[in-house]
Amino acid sequence: MNRNADPASPDALSLNESARDELTRRGGEPDSASSPGVALSEEAWRARLPPERYEVLRREGTERPFSSPLYEEHRAGRFLCAGCGEELFTSRMKYDSGTGWPSFFEVPAGRLETRVDRKLFMPRTEYHCARCGGHQGHVFDDPGSPSGKRYCNNGLALRFVPDGEPGR
Ligand SMILES: [Zn+2]
Repeated sequence: MNRNADPASPDALSLNESARDELTRRGGEPDSASSPGVALSEEAWRARLPPERYEVLRREGTERPFSSPLYEEHRAGRFLCAGCGEELFTSRMKYDSGTGWPSFFEVPAGRLETRVDRKLFMPRTEYHCARCGGHQGHVFDDPGSPSGKRYCNNGLALRFVPDGEPGR
């Protein structure tokens, strides 16, 4: 009954810590965020996505401002999640924010989930695709937005489908 002498304890502890780190890297939420839709292992996501899209969608990376062709995309159409194909925005929800990232003033009900991101000094509200958990961007107050809110989106996290072209 000498618990201090259990040789398995250090290994068990380090395994638990690495599992917890894994959850943290995935955005701090267990699988519940993506359970209703697409839930793939990180290895499967890495195999499925180009590296630059993987970095944004699965690692919460941020693309360089003015780097996305979708920033200047003004055609009518739909913006799909680059991770799972879910329709997240339409061109009617987009506006020119001047920030260098595709920006939307409105979001469809139920397609996006938010979470407080404390990676920077100022806490920000992160949002991601409700279906696959893929990181999209951050939401800010913006007096220049028609709604007062700016959904500042990474173009790499989206695919644009112009009206009249088949989706997916
Ligand atoms: Zn998705």
